[in-house]
Amino acid sequence: MTGGRTPVILIFSFPIRSTVSNVTFRDLEEFSKCPYRFRYARSESYVPAPSEFVDAVVHSVISRMNALRLTRGSVTEDEALEEFWDCWDESYGLHPPRFKDSSDRITHLHMGEDLVRTYVRMVSRYGSPRILMNDIHSVRQLPGGNGIRIDIDEVCMRGETVLLCRYVTDGLRTRTDMESDRSMNIALLWALYNIPGAEYAVACWRLLSTGTEFESPTDRGSLTRTAVDVGRDVGVLRAAVAFPPKACDLCPGCPVRSNCPRFAHADSLPEDPDSRSMDEGVRMVDAYRELEEKKRALKDRIAMLEERQRELSESIVGYADGHGYNAVNGSDCYVVVSHQKKVVLPEDKTDVIEHLKRSGSYERYSMVNYPRLRSDIMKGQTDAVLRNMAMVVPDDRLYLKRKS
Ligand code: SF4
Repeated sequence: MTGGRTPVILIFSFPIRSTVSNVTFRDLEEFSKCPYRFRYARSESYVPAPSEFVDAVVHSVISRMNALRLTRGSVTEDEALEEFWDCWDESYGLHPPRFKDSSDRITHLHMGEDLVRTYVRMVSRYGSPRILMNDIHSVRQLPGGNGIRIDIDEVCMRGETVLLCRYVTDGLRTRTDMESDRSMNIALLWALYNIPGAEYAVACWRLLSTGTEFESPTDRGSLTRTAVDVGRDVGVLRAAVAFPPKACDLCPGCPVRSNCPRFAHADSLPEDPDSRSMDEGVRMVDAYRELEEKKRALKDRIAMLEERQRELSESIVGYADGHGYNAVNGSDCYVVVSHQKKVVLPEDKTDVIEHLKRSGSYERYSMVNYPRLRSDIMKGQTDAVLRNMAMVVPDDRLYLKRKS
């Protein structure tokens, strides 16, 4: 297959070329899991993982084959595989992924071939006249003024219903994963507003590892709520000034692990436990942990003493009342027993708060939520006047964690 093929460099436009003005769902996911890795993944030196490589090549083939289906109606397994091999070779030359060895490379090559075969089988089963558009890459504006990039493999019409299809190459998605797929929800919104005559939109995931299909209908209310959430998340990403590493499920096989500050000290330590215990960092953290344990033991002891004191105070009150005493003496001190009253409010304060608001006395009793105010100032979510009243100063914190 030659001519007209999407330049292979575009295969990796997601991780490599996206900018903050063109935020993708992948950006949001990586940023929320590990901001440090997110920043690295946006650099030109990013090395794709084998599964990302296979996914990108298979999607490139699907894009090309869908274009043929649109003009010609159908595709064959042979031409899809030929396209796959060409695309694999070209992509491998430009962006070789992190295969462990040649047998790992062959395993992933066969995996990609199987996914392409399944794609051809699935589209032959569904027929081609339903396909309306393919390979959509657009930006959907969100509440709050931010935009997010949406990517749809295929758009079909079924009566007045638009079917948005996504081909999934990793077979690990569960029904819950798919139903909470925010990128698909935003794509559905895009379809409802951009495709003339689209009254309803349905999300459709085609799982190429199993050859199965899963559909989920639209709930406009939940789509709008998703748009608000995604808009807020894009705002947080855009405002980010720090990109700390965060241990997460992306750590195993992470391409930046060798330079990651989260693991740099652990990786620099010698294997031998005796030599390791001589390391300056190890000695300081061990001493820190010891103090933390002593503080915890002290807190437990204080809680126990307070409980004993509470029991004793009940006994003293009983003793004083029984004898008609106002004060009870010790050897060199005494306690005065004073009978007072205290107010106990209901545990659920909803009615109390409602009443205070209705009666106009809420302001008198409510307090400013300073932790939230500080957090909003930090995230740049307050107005400039408030921001200028605060100072942002260094605040070094230590989080002591057990090694798993
Ligand atoms: S190794 Fe883990 S913590 Fe470090 S950059 Fe990668 S994902 Fe983040």
